[in-house]
Amino acid sequence: MPSFDPATREALEARLRFYRELGLTDFYKRAIETTQAAPAQDSDLGAQRLDSETWVGTPSDAILSQETTPIPPRKPIQIPPQVFPAIDQDRSTALRLIREDIGDCTRCALHKGRNKLVFADGDPNARLMFVGEGPGADEDAQGLPFVGRAGQLLNNMIGAMGLTREQVYIANVVKCRPPQNRTPEPDEANTCSPFLFRQIDVVRPQVIVALGATAATYLLGQRQPLAGLRGRVHSLRGSKLIVTYHPAFLLRDPRQKKEAWADLQIAMRELGLKPPAKSNS
Ligand code: URA
Repeated sequence: MPSFDPATREALEARLRFYRELGLTDFYKRAIETTQAAPAQDSDLGAQRLDSETWVGTPSDAILSQETTPIPPRKPIQIPPQVFPAIDQDRSTALRLIREDIGDCTRCALHKGRNKLVFADGDPNARLMFVGEGPGADEDAQGLPFVGRAGQLLNNMIGAMGLTREQVYIANVVKCRPPQNRTPEPDEANTCSPFLFRQIDVVRPQVIVALGATAATYLLGQRQPLAGLRGRVHSLRGSKLIVTYHPAFLLRDPRQKKEAWADLQIAMRELGLKPPAKSNS
């Protein structure tokens, strides 16, 4: 057990009691504040670089197709207290505590097909966090998020922002692989997402990027078409939240990469990041 001062320890224990009393089956509804972000400039250095070199494959004549995964709306619940003093002391320890709480989880049916539970990857002190839907086959085998094809694309997206995978924090709405990679059922996502919210409360990233409709739905607590959520800065638990396409969707429809890059540029503006300069070599 990590050593916390008595007040912090008491606060953490109160929080754990709170979750146990909830049975970790409830879910959150948060107010959503939005501000309009300026549209991304095609002439931005990053876009040019990406068009030619990395993950923005093709062209500006992108079709306006959307992800259409049907996800029912979530019900409102109590918002748990935040425990910042403990978090400030040691985020790694606080995250380990969450992982220990999850344990050999059997809270929902997804555990039945699980090989490895996928908790998260990256820097506990990251300023930028990515949230996906749930592990696929590669992630289930390795116990790490986004390590398959979609993960390679995500790594390229992170690189295009001038960051490395090690500098960000990556997690999912559900921590066990849904059968045949189906969308998590609401009861599965609502059972698992309290742990994700605890991870967010510990990492307290400046910016969260929701990858796809499932992440956006369960983070924001409301279901809306992706088109209505993209291009804006939302607020979530003290972080800015940007919504973009899921990398797996971008693999299926590379024409949308340009749109996704515009979303990532919003995140970069919030973080004060400039795309890396194009190398001449
Ligand atoms: N897709 C996700 O949403 N998450 C992963 O970890 C991998 C693929």
